[in-house]
Amino acid sequence: MPEVHNPQLGREHSYPYEHREEERDWHWGMVINTNRCINCNTCSFACKSTWTSGEGEEYMWWMNVETEPYGGYPMGWDMRLLDDLGPDETIFEAAEDGEQVRGYVAAKEEWEYPALGDDQSHGEYPAGDVVESDPENEQYHDMWQFYLPRLCNHCKNPACLAACPRQAIYKREEDGIVLLDQERCRGYRRCVKSCPYHKPMYNPETGISEKPVGCFPRIEDGNVPRCVSSCIGKTRLHGNINRGPDAGHPNDVSSAADGRSPINYLVKSDEKVALPLYPQFGTRPQVFYMPPYHVPPEFLTQMFTPNVDEKRNDWPGSTYEESVKIVQQRARDPSHHVLGILQLFGATTRLIETYRVKENRVKGWDRKGKKVVDMPIEEPMEVREGEQWTNQP
Ligand code: SF4
Ligand code: SF4
Repeated sequence: MPEVHNPQLGREHSYPYEHREEERDWHWGMVINTNRCINCNTCSFACKSTWTSGEGEEYMWWMNVETEPYGGYPMGWDMRLLDDLGPDETIFEAAEDGEQVRGYVAAKEEWEYPALGDDQSHGEYPAGDVVESDPENEQYHDMWQFYLPRLCNHCKNPACLAACPRQAIYKREEDGIVLLDQERCRGYRRCVKSCPYHKPMYNPETGISEKPVGCFPRIEDGNVPRCVSSCIGKTRLHGNINRGPDAGHPNDVSSAADGRSPINYLVKSDEKVALPLYPQFGTRPQVFYMPPYHVPPEFLTQMFTPNVDEKRNDWPGSTYEESVKIVQQRARDPSHHVLGILQLFGATTRLIETYRVKENRVKGWDRKGKKVVDMPIEEPMEVREGEQWTNQP
């Protein structure tokens, strides 16, 4: 198999295809702030009612929200695959004879309970005084959980694409969205087996597989995906992950066309605040998560870093656990610039291509250079004088 460079792992590894152009000018990407998610599943239903409400699609949740550490759809999808991988081994390196990717097909009953583990916490309810977490002093409450929205990552090394013997899965030239050509698919289910995030699913009514489409018709019209526009927690920002600093400094742009994309800043700047889910699988996922700041870093290290002793990539800190602690701290106490970008989350249904943070205002422009957001970062708080009115007795 050819070798490819994986910047999330900071090393080369094998991947079945050599000639790929993953640093294209425009690439689909998303950042999710887990600290804002309330598990309402509006995103899941918005996606389902848009894309998977037909026959044979009853169990297809292209977008779902899991409660960590016990949720999982299909059940235990992550731990089961991690158990099959050696330390520092990607799913491509762990492939068995005659296969391109290491994976497994989840049994029918593992798909039957999308909400299993919802709101189940880790740890015992404390006896005696309840003590708050104090992350600054590395004291974490024994009881914790958090919500993890999950969707197709439109990976730069897609496992679904690598495994398909019919070349029915392809990555679009214009935006890197990974699509499945249903005319070519013969229902061999190699994509279903190989995607480590279990997002391609088989339709027993049609006999062919289906996979998430990144809301491509909305992207083409300059709008954000349905899971982003419907999110009432304003947890998400979608855009061009590849539009980096070479396009101009975010605070010093002469026109909208010169700027950097806001998600690129959150993921790739020196102020990195978002991490990929299980980068050790090797697929280079393009959904990035701002980690919950109340959760012990050891748990997040195995979930959002390559989880090896030797730190090889350009993330902050000298170990991956340190990277997680630094990113948690930045999410908990964001800089003025990051706070400005956080105001863009859920501010418009238009896709924000570039932005600018200046003093107390943040502005965003769409792909045509039209201003679509212009708002204050912090609004003045007014406290009424005199006795506070209350309806409590
Ligand atoms: S998340 Fe799965 S289905 Fe989506 S591009 Fe990656 S490997 Fe393919
Ligand atoms: S709609 Fe937003 S807040 Fe609600 S579950 Fe989805 S990501 Fe979380």
